This record gives sequence, structure tokens and C-alpha cells, in this order.
Amino acid sequence: MKVKFWGVRGSIPTPISPQNLEEKLIALLVGSQGHDVSSPGAARAYLQSLPIFRQNTVGGNTSCVEVHAGEDRLIIDAGSGLKELGWSLMNEAFGRGKGKADILISHTHWDHIMGFPFFTPAYVPGNKLTIYGVHPSLKQRFKRQHHDHNFPVPFEAMGADIQFRKLAPNKKRRIGPFQIEPFLLVHPGDAYAFRIEHNGRVFVYASDGSYNDPSPQNMQKYFDFYRNAEVLVFDAHFDLIESFEKSDWGHSTSFLGVDIALHADIKRLVLFHHNPASNDTRIEKLLDSTQRYLNHVAPNTDLELQIAHEGLELTL
Ligand SMILES: [Zn+2]
Ligand SMILES: [Zn+2]
Repeated sequence: MKVKFWGVRGSIPTPISPQNLEEKLIALLVGSQGHDVSSPGAARAYLQSLPIFRQNTVGGNTSCVEVHAGEDRLIIDAGSGLKELGWSLMNEAFGRGKGKADILISHTHWDHIMGFPFFTPAYVPGNKLTIYGVHPSLKQRFKRQHHDHNFPVPFEAMGADIQFRKLAPNKKRRIGPFQIEPFLLVHPGDAYAFRIEHNGRVFVYASDGSYNDPSPQNMQKYFDFYRNAEVLVFDAHFDLIESFEKSDWGHSTSFLGVDIALHADIKRLVLFHHNPASNDTRIEKLLDSTQRYLNHVAPNTDLELQIAHEGLELTL
């Protein structure tokens, strides 16, 4: 099973600002002194030796993660990252009207569905898309963002065969070669985590959830659902203080992610749904302080920490 991140930002697409880009370029130019950057190849090698925050950017598109195994493909959430994924898919069978994809929707807040009207494969007759979610009226929720007050092309003008299927929480279901199970998270209007199993490997996507009751009685259900995942994608939207001040916003922190990952025997914790107020420097600091927290509470752990960024690919 391979996982690729197309959108990692929370709430609203957040392109890097010109001022921020300028600061990044200045730091790069100054830092490159003494390194060979005399050709494109050498410059690329130098760039790739730097952490993602300095060589590039974590990216500004909202939630969209692709899971694939061979020809089979699951897409989790349809945030603005879906647009780019759609363009990439058009080079494959989707460009010929012979593509097939299953899309899981954690919830229908704007940042998790806004990419769908821009998903080019949905306009190509012959393509088959099945959209799965736990929420009621999923089709109406998708159609509503095509209302002519909001978007010029009606949902009905999308030429692909688009079906909607309802999932039940805590009920395992097979989709292609994947076994998937949704699980309720605390979030305004409800959101669902997905546990995806393939060939004995487990991937868990748990964006948009708060955990305000830290008692063992409350947390045990999360530990059980996330248990033994190779990769846990976790809502790290808030820093610690914000998580207390905005406890009813339905988001979590990287530090709580560490605590949960340690209890649930997770191999790799991927911090996700980055705050639109955070630039790359702030996200780098978040990773650093979270790593220090992990080193402090579990000095001998094998748990790996990672920041989700656009283009990140993981093999499970
Ligand atoms: Zn969100
Ligand atoms: Zn949300």
C-alpha cells in the first residue's frame, strides 16, 4: 500500500505569501555559499539535502490523500489538493474515460470537499467515481456547492458516472482490495476517521478531531481504533494553548498525537491539517518541539514523527 499526500492544510487553501517566499529565497541564497550550486543538478542535490521547510514548502492545499495498491485507488477527502491529483490522473486511464476511483469523505466541511468541482476526471464520460461517507444526504451536500450562486457548472454536467454510498460507523467494509472502517471523531457536525487495512498493513487517517476528555475511559476507544497502524495521519491544527482556548473547534495538537500514538503502538505519526496561520518556519518549530516532547516522555521509543507535506509518499 502506498500513500501520497496532495493536500495537507486545514480550513482554507493557504498559498505561501510573496513576503514569506522572499524570506525563504534569501535564506537559501545565503545558506548556499560554499555549496556547489553551479548546475541545475548540483543545485537540486543541495536543495534535497535540506529539510522540507527550507528546500520547499509543506504546501497550501486542503485535505486530500491518495492510497493505492497496484491499480486500485482510494482517495480520502476532496479538499483543494484533489484538483492537482485530478490533473495527474488525466495522464492515466481517467484521461480516456476508463478510470475508476473510490473516494472516502471524512466530513463535508468546505475544506474537505471544495476540490471536487475542479476534479477534471469527474467531467470525463466513462470514468466511474464512487463517493463514500457516513453523513446523511452526502449527494445533496456535494450538489450544493455546485449551486449557481457558488459555481458555474451544475453537478449534473459532470459526465462521469458518480455514485454515492453510505458507510456505517464501526462497520468494516471491503472496497476493492482494502478493508475500511469509519470511526466517529469529536468535531462540529461530526467527522470520521478511517482505518484502512491491506495485506496485513494498517493506515489510519484521523483528521479533524478533538480529544477534550483525556480520561482513560474516554481515550481507550481511540487507542483501540488506531492500534498498530504503520501510519497514523493526525490532526495537529492547534498548538497546546490554542487547543485549550478553542476546545470546541474540533481540532487537536501534535502533543496529544504523540500521547495517543504511544498508547496505540503506532510506528509513524504524520502531523496533518496544518493551521492556515502557520508558515513553514512555524511548522518546523512545531515538529521540533513535538520531537523534543517525544524524546522526553518516551526516550527509547521507535515512534517516528513526520510532517505531512504535499508530494510526500509513504510505502506501508
Ligand atoms: Zn478540516
Ligand atoms: Zn472540519
